[in-house]
Amino acid sequence: MFRLINLVAIALFIIMTVILIKYRLVFEITVDGEKLGYIADKKQFEQSINEFIDKKENNKIYTKIAQMPSFELTFVDKSEQTKEEEILAKIEKDSETMYKLYAVTVNGKEQATIANLEEAESLVKELNKKYKNKSSIKIAIIDVITSDNKKDVVTVKKAKTNIVNAINASTKKTYTKKVTYNYTTSKTATSSKVTKLASLNGIKFTVTPISGIITSRFGSRESIRSSSHSGLDIAAPKGTPIKAAADGTVIFAGTSGGYGKMIKISHGNGVVTFYGHCSALYAKVGQTISAGDVIAAVGATGHATGNHLHFEVLKNGLSINPQKFLY
Ligand SMILES: [Zn+2]
Repeated sequence: MFRLINLVAIALFIIMTVILIKYRLVFEITVDGEKLGYIADKKQFEQSINEFIDKKENNKIYTKIAQMPSFELTFVDKSEQTKEEEILAKIEKDSETMYKLYAVTVNGKEQATIANLEEAESLVKELNKKYKNKSSIKIAIIDVITSDNKKDVVTVKKAKTNIVNAINASTKKTYTKKVTYNYTTSKTATSSKVTKLASLNGIKFTVTPISGIITSRFGSRESIRSSSHSGLDIAAPKGTPIKAAADGTVIFAGTSGGYGKMIKISHGNGVVTFYGHCSALYAKVGQTISAGDVIAAVGATGHATGNHLHFEVLKNGLSINPQKFLY
């Protein structure tokens, strides 16, 4: 009996030694069904991916890799090379990094893109001061979410020149050209019912964020605020789920003055929506959102007299009537 156990042990030892002389254990990497090769150290490899995703870069919002690789432990011939760097390079190549830049607009039209928010703000301040007696000139900043952080970015000096030129051109036009109003759409203007538009700058609003009673319309003036209402108020019980009106990317999730807890979503093409006075926020900055995704819950945070959603639609930085699209 003793000898048999000994024989089995010796046999196993020989088999293992032969295997370990000829083969070694590695991880096979598969991404999206495609086998990319072998790596030796799974922990190290995962850390390299995480370092790439978390890499700090000016104006970066997030980096997203196409798909997390799957690892399969396997024996390969010792002569087989592992390809850590090559596989990592492929994963990095298939990733997406998004950046936030700041465009200065004149009357809603983008004139110059700047990388630094503080610089953009001080430029807008300076220009608004310069043109304060020209009430027809509105200078503002809008967020530009882009995968190309070099695209159209100019220095503050160049931005200022562009904007001043645009203002001069638009002022000249006002004096030399008589504005002709198009009365063919006057029916919608006089009707008390708001005519719904299919899209805004090509962005379709497909989901009503909440259902409830409209308590304050766009443009209404009330004692609670100094200026006219920039959005639409819809009353609903605290905790009612709020859905995104269209596909987009979350560019703000936090507390902002009178808005209280709020979410801002950029839908592209200069279209942004705000969801204010929330009791809870579920979406995070940089998150990709599909229309209908629950992003927050109704509340009464900030300047609010009761539980309601303040829903705001912005086109190139200017608030427009949400009822043109929804409700
Ligand atoms: Zn409101």
